[in-house]
Amino acid sequence: MQKGTINVQTENIFPIIKKFLYSDHEIFLRELISNAVDATQKLKTLASMGKFKGELGDLTIKVELDKKKGTLKVIDRGIGMTADEVDKYINQIALSSAEEFVKKYKGKSEEDKNALIGHFGLGFYSAFMVSDKVEILTKTYKKGGATKAVRWECDGSPNYTIEEIDKKERGTEIVLHISDDSKEFLEEYKILELLKKYSKFLPVPIQFGFEDVQEKTGKKDKDGNDEYKTVKKPRIINNTVPAWTKKPSELKDEDYKAFYHELYPLNFEDPLFWIHLNVDYPFKLTGILYFPKVKKNIEVQRDKIQLYSNQVFVTDSVEGIVPDFLTLLHGVLDSPDIPLNVSRSFLQSDSNVKKISNHIMKKVSDKLEEIFKNNREDFEKKWDDIKVFIQYGMISEPKFYERAEKFYLFKNIEGKYFTFEEYKKHIEKLQTDKDKKLVYLYTTNADEQHAYIEAAKEKGYDVLEMDGVLDNHFVNTLEQKFENSTFARVDADIIDKIINKEDKQPSKLSEKEQEKLKPVFEKIVGSEHYTVIFENLSEKDMPVLITQPEFMRRMKDMSKLGGGMDYMGTMPDAYNLVVNTNHPVISDILNEKDEEKQQSLAKEVTDLAKLSQNLLKGQELTDFIKRSVELIGK
Ligand code: ADP
Repeated sequence: MQKGTINVQTENIFPIIKKFLYSDHEIFLRELISNAVDATQKLKTLASMGKFKGELGDLTIKVELDKKKGTLKVIDRGIGMTADEVDKYINQIALSSAEEFVKKYKGKSEEDKNALIGHFGLGFYSAFMVSDKVEILTKTYKKGGATKAVRWECDGSPNYTIEEIDKKERGTEIVLHISDDSKEFLEEYKILELLKKYSKFLPVPIQFGFEDVQEKTGKKDKDGNDEYKTVKKPRIINNTVPAWTKKPSELKDEDYKAFYHELYPLNFEDPLFWIHLNVDYPFKLTGILYFPKVKKNIEVQRDKIQLYSNQVFVTDSVEGIVPDFLTLLHGVLDSPDIPLNVSRSFLQSDSNVKKISNHIMKKVSDKLEEIFKNNREDFEKKWDDIKVFIQYGMISEPKFYERAEKFYLFKNIEGKYFTFEEYKKHIEKLQTDKDKKLVYLYTTNADEQHAYIEAAKEKGYDVLEMDGVLDNHFVNTLEQKFENSTFARVDADIIDKIINKEDKQPSKLSEKEQEKLKPVFEKIVGSEHYTVIFENLSEKDMPVLITQPEFMRRMKDMSKLGGGMDYMGTMPDAYNLVVNTNHPVISDILNEKDEEKQQSLAKEVTDLAKLSQNLLKGQELTDFIKRSVELIGK
C-alpha cells in the first residue's frame, strides 16, 4: 500500500467544504452521478470510434444504500481509472479545482452561491460534505501495462492511501461512509428524492433499489382473464431519452402531452400548445416550451421551466436567463452554452444568454403568429388563456410588442375578437372626438359597470372587456404606443362628453340655478370625496350619475398591483357626482320649497346613482331599503 499527502495549497479544504457548503450538501450525489455518466459516455464514444473493442455490457449506473454499514455507493461501468490516473485526476486536478471552487464560493452572496452550486464546480470532493471517509475502487478499460484495479481511500484529512486490489468489473465504485451529521442520506426516501430531482433525464440508466412490477404469468384465470404475479424488478430512476432530445418528427401530440405530465406530475391540466426548440448554431439549445393556461394568480406559475445542461438538471429558476414574461411558460431548456457558474447580474449581460433569450422570444412569437394566421378560430378559443402572457410580454419587451401587435386580440363585451387594425376600423366612425382622437371605451367589470355599458351601447359605442390582472398596465402601454388615441373606462366620465366635446343640447338650468342647487347635493355627499358637477345630458339619462376620474382611478388600481407609486394606494377614492341639468326630477328638486323634502329627494337620486356603482353600503344601504319599502306602502 502506498500512502501520501494530498498537496493542499492554501489550507486544509476539507473542513471548509463541510462548513461553508452546509446548505447545499445534497448536490454531492448529482456530482458523483455526473462523473459516472461522463465515464460511461466516454466509454461509449471510445467504442464507437473503435478504440475500445471489448463488450460494453450493461452500462446501468447503480446507486446502493447499506444502512447497517452506513454506506452509500455509486457504481458505474465506464472507463475507470488506472493508479496513475487516480493520482492525476483525484489527487491533483480534482483537488485543485475543488480548492478553486471553495475560494470563489467564500466571497459570494447567497444568490450567487446558489448559481455557482447550480453549475458543477466542486466535483468529486463534494463527497466529503457528507462522509467521514471516501473510497474509490476503480478498474480501467485499458489493457496491458500498469492497468491493475486500485483502491483509493481518504478520511477527510489531507492523507490518502492507494493500493492495488482485485476487481473484476471494469469501471468505478465510489463508497461513501456517511458521517453522523449526514444520516439523512442513509434514508431510502431521501436518496430517491434527490435522484428524482437531479437525475430524472440523465442519458445513462440509473438504478436504485427494486420495485414491484405486475407481470403476466401467461396463464388465464377461470373467467379467461390474464393472470398476473408480482415480481421485483430493478428500479430505473430516469428516462434516458426525454422528449426534448428527440426530433419533432418523431413525436406526436400525445407524446408532448405525456412528457408534460412527466415533468409536472402534479399538474393535471394539458398544455395549450408547445414549441420544440432545436438550435445548433451559434449556440446549442434544445428544449420544449409549453403554454399553460395562464391563471389569475400569475406568481404561482413562475419558475416552472427546468434548466438542464446535457440532460443534467441544473436549476428550476431561469430568471435572468429568459425574459421575465417567458417564465410564465413551462417546460425544459437544455444548453451547455449557458454559463451558470457566474452571477445572475453577469448572466443578464452575457452575449450568449442574450442571444438565447432573443431566440426563444422569436420562436414564441413565431408560434403565436403561426396559430393566429393558420387557425384564427383556434387562436380565439385559446385567447383568454394566453392573453395575460402576451400582455406581460408586450408591456415588458418592446421587441415582443412589435411582433405581437399583429396578433393581439381585443375582446369586446359581445365576445367578439378584433386585431388592433380591425378594431380601429370598427370604432373609427362613432368614437372619434373632435380633436380626431380615437376613444377606446372599456369595462373592468361588466356587472358592476352595467348601467354605464348600457348607456354606451345606446349611443352605438363599442365597449372592450378589460378585466384581466394586467389590463390596467396594458391600457397605459397601449396609450403610449397608439397614436392619437385615448382610453376611458365606461364610467370614467360622461362618455358622450368625451367623444362629442360640444354640448348637443342647451342646459335647462341657468348658471345661477346650478349654483343654487350645488350646495343641496354637496350637503348630501359633504364628508365624502365627491365633486358635484353639472352636465347637460339627455332627459333619458339618469338624473344623477357617479363617475370616476380616469387618471386617478387607473393610478390607484396600478398601485394595488404593486406598480410603484405606493402613495396612490393610500389616497381616498375620488368621484364625480354628475347632476343631469336636463332631467325633470332635477328641476323638481330645484323648485322644491320645503327644504327637508328637497334634501330627501336629492338624497334619493344620489343613493340610486351610488347603488348603480355598487357604492351604497352598510348603514346607508339599510336606510335606503327601509325608505324604499316605506315608499311602496304609501
Ligand atoms: P470534473 O468531473 O468536473 O472533471 P471531478 O472532481 O468530479 O471534476 O472529477 C475529477 C476527475 O476524476 C474527472 O474529470 C475524471 O477524470 C475522474 N473521475 C471522477 N469520477 C470518475 C468515474 N466515476 N470514472 C472515471 N473517472 C472519474
